[in-house]
Amino acid sequence: MQTFQPPRRILMGPGPSDVSPRVLAALGRPTIGHLDPVFQTLMEEIKAGLQRLFNAPDHACVPLPAPGTAGMEAAMMNLLEPGDRAVIAVNGVFGGRMVDMAGRAGATVTVVENTWGEPVDPARVEAALAEGPAKVLAFVHAETSTGVRSDAAALCALARKHGALSVVDCVTSLGGIVVDVAAWDADFVYSGTQKCLSAPPGLSPIAISPRAQAAIAARTTPVRNWLLDVNLFMAYWGGEGGRTYHHTAPINALYGLHEALVALFEEGVQAVQVRHAREHEALVAGLEALGLQMLVDPKHRLPQLNTVRVPDGIDEAQVRAHVLKEWDLEIGAGLGPLKGQVWRIGLMGASATPWHVKICLTALGEALAAQGYRR
Ligand code: PLP
Repeated sequence: MQTFQPPRRILMGPGPSDVSPRVLAALGRPTIGHLDPVFQTLMEEIKAGLQRLFNAPDHACVPLPAPGTAGMEAAMMNLLEPGDRAVIAVNGVFGGRMVDMAGRAGATVTVVENTWGEPVDPARVEAALAEGPAKVLAFVHAETSTGVRSDAAALCALARKHGALSVVDCVTSLGGIVVDVAAWDADFVYSGTQKCLSAPPGLSPIAISPRAQAAIAARTTPVRNWLLDVNLFMAYWGGEGGRTYHHTAPINALYGLHEALVALFEEGVQAVQVRHAREHEALVAGLEALGLQMLVDPKHRLPQLNTVRVPDGIDEAQVRAHVLKEWDLEIGAGLGPLKGQVWRIGLMGASATPWHVKICLTALGEALAAQGYRR
């Protein structure tokens, strides 16, 4: 074997996004023991930083030691027991993954289907909740497969009204658009580090309300997975009884998350959101000048994930291959029913800069011209 040297890429797909040099430097700092008092200080700072970023002062906030899917799995496995009913809104790939997981947790799942490329329809969700008691209402705030934002405040309010716990996927939204867990009164919110936080993949920040914690404590059957059992996990991250060994934390990855949070707060949570919105507008203006069309209605677009229709006669995979080969630029393909029909261009975290927008527009224009495209 030889040392692996990855190429330098510009990451403008659906995640991971570019990781800033300061976060990369933090990852390479000396590993210390996970029970070292200095490391415990870092854990406390991360918990406080996540509470601030989620705006969740009353929630338990910790990073799970696995990517965003772990947050989803923790939500489903901890909140649901066999026989419980879950209402799950699906408007893209990740809602579908929630349905699969809730079924594996033994729940009876009512799926509320929505059109891909459109937000979740609260009226349909309410109709499903009104059919009978549900333990959980789950939905994706920012659907990365389509580039659509759903109305988290309205959907969480419906969960409250019907006595269900809300599960909100904020993997792509956290750090890019407003995530206000306290205002939403949301119950189990999870995210990932490789999108708008611009840290490497591998951690899933979560926020759990006191209501959800009480529901988990009151379970009559054990949580089906061990690593993600909130009761055990929280004891490690420092509950009232102090810290007990559960697993060995991914120490260096946590240095990276800590530094990403420091950088984000230095810039300012709102300033970061404004930067995402500004670069999104610049990108859309440039794409439209190239004669390209966006998939999603402007009212529901995510600034951090831009879904662009592939023009007739253009080979979309060849365009992605061209920009990767000639520009070291990664953009994403469509998923599911949108496969072959769209590109997904990420402007997430450190990849949301004027420089990224210019490179992307130039590279795309060149790749399209290489196939004889004229606007
Ligand atoms: N939910 C959404 C909305 C996502 O975009 C992703 C990943 O792209 C996930 C969940 C799963 O996260 P991960 O790939 O980090 O496990």
